Amino acid sequence: MKTKLELQKVKVLRQTEISPGVFVLSFPRPWDFVAGQVIGISARETDDARLYSIASGELDDEVDILYNINPDGKLTPWMSRLNTADTIWVSKPFGSFTGAAGSAYWIASGTGIAPFRSMFRTGLTAGKKLLHGGRDLKTFYFEDEFHEGLGNDYVRCSSREAGAGAYHGRLTKYLTDCGTLPIDELYYLCGSAEMVVEVRDILIGRGIPFDNIISEIYF
Ligand SMILES: Cc1cc2nc3c(=O)[nH]c(=O)nc-3n(C[C@H](O)[C@H](O)[C@H](O)COP(=O)(O)OP(=O)(O)OC[C@H]3O[C@@H](n4cnc5c(N)ncnc54)[C@H](O)[C@@H]3O)c2cc1C
Repeated sequence: MKTKLELQKVKVLRQTEISPGVFVLSFPRPWDFVAGQVIGISARETDDARLYSIASGELDDEVDILYNINPDGKLTPWMSRLNTADTIWVSKPFGSFTGAAGSAYWIASGTGIAPFRSMFRTGLTAGKKLLHGGRDLKTFYFEDEFHEGLGNDYVRCSSREAGAGAYHGRLTKYLTDCGTLPIDELYYLCGSAEMVVEVRDILIGRGIPFDNIISEIYF
């Protein structure tokens, strides 16, 4: 998505390819934010910014952005070639897909895991169950951190590749087949429009009130 935002210059601290075509870009944190918020990023001050969830914690010194390359895209192929000390333009954080204490389901597909990594690193883990859907075992970004912090409450749903400890099948199948889902908890959904719409329909079909489903769609 593109949007017109007021932008400031920041210098890249680090860029790491954590999986083929998937990067974490880090820069020094210039502002406070609430876990789950997004920022705009662009190559030049005059360009239209694309939106990205912050993937680091509220108290971390660095801001992490998790993104994958859209080969035909305007920003991400350029962004993937950045090195330490290169410049990008970023907006202030905004958005209402923010985390809270208390029991909830965090449900993500692909890079939609980013806001939950921020909530996780901010310490909002008590009572959380994290479900992450991906094509294969390379798509479970930050899995070591989540394993350590959430144990059995971290579920990887791998649609095309079987692996130890991972559910082999789509996230939507896992939700359809799993036991009772609590109706009085919040369900946070983040990722592709396809995933969010399918999961929302499943949850509503299983009796979860519409108001308990909070969504962030990436496009
Ligand atoms: C709330 C939100 C949070 C997001 N967070 C993340 C994240 O954490 N990680 C991540 O990888 N992705 C995230 N995305 C998706 C991200 O914003 C980009 O769409 C994606 O990275 C592709 O960027 P690109 O510039 O390479 O591709 P592009 O194809 O250049 O841009 C992607 C989209 O921008 C729009 N666009 C591009 N050019 C134009 C134009 N000239 N006129 C009008 N519209 C245009 C179109 O909708 C296009 O599909 C998020 C999206 C949203 C809405």
